Amino acid sequence: MHKFDAKKFFMKWGAAMIAAVAVAIAMGAPLVAAAILDAQDAPVVVVDAGHGGADAGVVGVRTGIKESQINLNVAKLLGEYLIAGGIKVVYTRTGDYMNSHAKVKDNKKRADMFFRGDVINEAKPDAVISIHMNFYSSPARRGAQAFFDKHSEEGERLAAIVQELLNRDVNCDLGGREYAALSAEKYLLECSPYPAVIAECGFLSNPLDEAALIDPDFQARLAYTLFQATVIFLQKTALFGE
Ligand SMILES: [Zn+2]
Repeated sequence: MHKFDAKKFFMKWGAAMIAAVAVAIAMGAPLVAAAILDAQDAPVVVVDAGHGGADAGVVGVRTGIKESQINLNVAKLLGEYLIAGGIKVVYTRTGDYMNSHAKVKDNKKRADMFFRGDVINEAKPDAVISIHMNFYSSPARRGAQAFFDKHSEEGERLAAIVQELLNRDVNCDLGGREYAALSAEKYLLECSPYPAVIAECGFLSNPLDEAALIDPDFQARLAYTLFQATVIFLQKTALFGE
């Protein structure tokens, strides 16, 4: 059983970790996994890149870029930052494919979702960060939004932190408005008892959001915002949880 025993570590070093990774990113330095945490006590985070393979998700109105590709880029960067911060990362996918599942043969999408659910439940993570891009019938809508399962207090807390930082780093800058985290009925949020958030990082139905979302620098910025939010959540869990 995984034990979140990094309490004291995060109380003391969480902010320093964010700063250290920020400096490495700013300098373009390679992110070397920090051996500062005893591997057994390190918190575990599942990083979930939405969609993949035949399931491209939504596509950009202007460029036709696949959501699945942006999700994967952001997920891999987020994973790198977390690992650099001494956190154990478990990915639900690391390439452009759908996962299969031994018990679901007739529905590829469901098999892929069940596989993700299994990964999460086996990892027993301290947080699940699922990355998606949004789409809406009205092209005017833009911005990044966080979703949680209404039955999970911890998930709601995680989503609130993610939303706060997305507002600070993305929404106020680009869209000029803030969002509140919302509850949603999604398998990925409901499939495990662990705190989970779906970050819909912007609207591929909005040309301005799309232009930002295809930019590798912006993808890195998103990943860094999600990294910060994750560390802050883990710190707060260490201080007030359990
Ligand atoms: Zn999606």
